[in-house]
Amino acid sequence: MHTIIEPFRIKSVEPIYFNTKEERKNILETAFYNPFLIHSTDVLIDLLTDSGTSAMSSNQWAGIMQGDESYAGSPSFFRFEKTIQDITGLPLVIPTHQGRAAEKILFSIFGGRGKYILSNTLFDTTRANIEFSGAEGIDLVCEEGKHPGIPAPFKGNMDTGLLEAFIQEKGAENIPLVILTVTNNSGGGQPVSMQNIREVKKICVENTIPLFIDACRFAENAWFIKLREAGYADKTIPEIVKELFGYADGCTMSAKKDAFANIGGFLAMRNESLAQQCRNLLIMTEGFPTYGGLAGRDLEAIAIGLIEVMDESYLQYRIRSIEYLSNKLVDAGVPVMLPAGGHAVYLIADEFLPHIPIEQYPGQALAAALYLEGGIRSVEIGSLMFGKYDTAGKLIPAQLELVRLAIPRRVYTQSHIDYVAEVIIEVYKKRDQIKGLTITEEAPALRHFTVKLKPHN
Ligand SMILES: *Cc1c(COP(=O)(O)O)cnc(C)c1O
Repeated sequence: MHTIIEPFRIKSVEPIYFNTKEERKNILETAFYNPFLIHSTDVLIDLLTDSGTSAMSSNQWAGIMQGDESYAGSPSFFRFEKTIQDITGLPLVIPTHQGRAAEKILFSIFGGRGKYILSNTLFDTTRANIEFSGAEGIDLVCEEGKHPGIPAPFKGNMDTGLLEAFIQEKGAENIPLVILTVTNNSGGGQPVSMQNIREVKKICVENTIPLFIDACRFAENAWFIKLREAGYADKTIPEIVKELFGYADGCTMSAKKDAFANIGGFLAMRNESLAQQCRNLLIMTEGFPTYGGLAGRDLEAIAIGLIEVMDESYLQYRIRSIEYLSNKLVDAGVPVMLPAGGHAVYLIADEFLPHIPIEQYPGQALAAALYLEGGIRSVEIGSLMFGKYDTAGKLIPAQLELVRLAIPRRVYTQSHIDYVAEVIIEVYKKRDQIKGLTITEEAPALRHFTVKLKPHN
């Protein structure tokens, strides 16, 4: 078989600004060893996130010129609405400025004290919006999803046994919503199988609990279903996507992921009175229901991106390019989460740096080392991001210590990825020299964004 090539040509480029290791040492110190505080022009390869960082197509840019900026009833909205209705089969579509704005609206309605929102794994903004409403967010990922080094085809699945037991214990009346994240971002970009979605839906129906999908990476998830699940190899991606949303009562979406847009999101659902409640909240913070928090041109870019993302040659390239990086690292003995996720490769930081105690944040130390060595920006997903303190001030670690290398869509070429692998392997060879970090300043919530650290003595 031939090399799977990037299924696009490049029409417009952005420069990468090179710097030296000595310069990066200073930059890292000035940024307090926090990648979020580094200026992006000081980064050579930016793998901080795949959110809003996609390259738009010439068609999307053409759509932007056609955006109609009318306050009410813009044709751009009707194009956006019809596209989402056609793809998902969900009739009621509400634009928002990002995924989290959709979450804020949804959980203002479904959340509240004494309630539980159940998920495979909640994304951090989803959890934050649930907790802000007073409800509790519960992750019920399957057993395979808890072991990063052991491969399995659908590690994003929800444990349906745990789901039934939880409903039994707390009572369906205290569980207003189940939400499945596809693919499971915080769980390593791992897919959810159609069979699992079907089983979760059945349990929800039996208990009259609505099922929503956090649909940020719906197309990547559909591709994994086509590749890995029996009975789906001959189905088209739009068919798989239609079936997937067919089990849902609604969805939240960040268009910054699988819609190739730089901003945007939406809510979609079946229930008219729920949609009316959502629109009432939307008007207060986002805008009139035919634009949400978006410009007409954004609605056009999203509508076009949602169609482009289901193209099979794109999805084949996308998933293969992540696996390509993962395989290179595995061959060199670097500990990575297996199998590769849909949008990112995750390094297992506590295995990479076993000499650094969790209290010195091995994931953050590894992210700093990757920047220093090769100007690569990544993000810690471990005890810096999710750790809490007990009453004695001792760190309660996260379940996993990971460093995520998220690959922006249609942005980097194979030689960029080769370079990334080379740098990681170099750092791995010198891993004994890497030192831990100590926090010098931190915020009470979502501390990873603004935390300051220094090398541990
Ligand atoms: C990015 C993301 C969100 C939030 O979307 P924003 O557009 O960043 O607000 C929610 N869920 C998942 C799974 C995500 O990846």
